[in-house]
Amino acid sequence: MSTAQQFIVYSKPTKCVKCALTVEFTHAQDADLKLGGWACPNCTHVYRFTHWKIQKAGKRALKKLGKELN
Ligand SMILES: [Zn+2]
Repeated sequence: MSTAQQFIVYSKPTKCVKCALTVEFTHAQDADLKLGGWACPNCTHVYRFTHWKIQKAGKRALKKLGKELN
């Protein structure tokens, strides 16, 4: 459909839960925020953006809350 060149976005090295390797996840720059996700280059497991964001935000929120409470 589209002949435009696709750009790939790389994540920071992150451990894949599926294959237990630390890899750089990738996704197309124009990937859909709701349907797309980060793909592991080793086992091709896809982590949806929604799931990824919830996990990250949750951990950071917990750390921040802990510091503020202390
Ligand atoms: Zn993997």
